[in-house]
Amino acid sequence: MDAANQNHEALDAAARVPSAQDLETLSRQLNRPVRDVVEIGARCTCGNPLVATTAPRLSSGIPFPTTYYLTHPVITAAVSRLEAAGLMNEMNTELGEDAVLAAGYARAHEEYLAVRDAIGERSGTGAVPEIAGVSAGGMPTRVKCLHVLVGHSLAAGPGINPLGDRALAAIAEWWTTDICRCAGAWDTEGPAPSQDRSRHVKTQAVDPAIKQAERKAARAAREAAAVGTDEVSGA
Ligand SMILES: [Zn+2]
Repeated sequence: MDAANQNHEALDAAARVPSAQDLETLSRQLNRPVRDVVEIGARCTCGNPLVATTAPRLSSGIPFPTTYYLTHPVITAAVSRLEAAGLMNEMNTELGEDAVLAAGYARAHEEYLAVRDAIGERSGTGAVPEIAGVSAGGMPTRVKCLHVLVGHSLAAGPGINPLGDRALAAIAEWWTTDICRCAGAWDTEGPAPSQDRSRHVKTQAVDPAIKQAERKAARAAREAAAVGTDEVSGA
């Protein structure tokens, strides 16, 4: 562990480095090629990734507030069950009534931002003023995506995100940190996905504004490529 690190991160610097095999596992877990993953946020006891860490600015230039993305299919499915059962509504009601919980959740938001800054620094992204003060999952005052909160809890370790911790405890029937549930959880046969085959699967919500900005950037890149007909563009 790096003693100088004031941030709460479950994995030390060496364990955060994604190997080629980690990236392949992520794309198999998500059933699509991954991009802009700069670190692994959390790992199974067996070493497989549980959480992909994305830099606060994508290689396309788009600011990206959601640092931690839950990738393990057993966990994402279990968390989806909690969402379907209405746990987010319960939590939102409780946030409005319990000042201690609300303060803890607000602290989790600050922790998230601090670690994201550190990740931006480590990955060479630098400061991303467009998303300053904007975290994810509904923090600091609402719960909008439990996958985001559980991803944060796994990456930060226990005691940082009270609602992420609670959601993790609530899926204990299907997944716990101490037992590997990787066997059979994703397709390990054949080549890793080279195309997105997961469009119908909704787990973590991506901000529509970001989706829109990404589409716009992709369109601009295509148009720029079409203009330069004489040269072969790699874009
Ligand atoms: Zn495992």
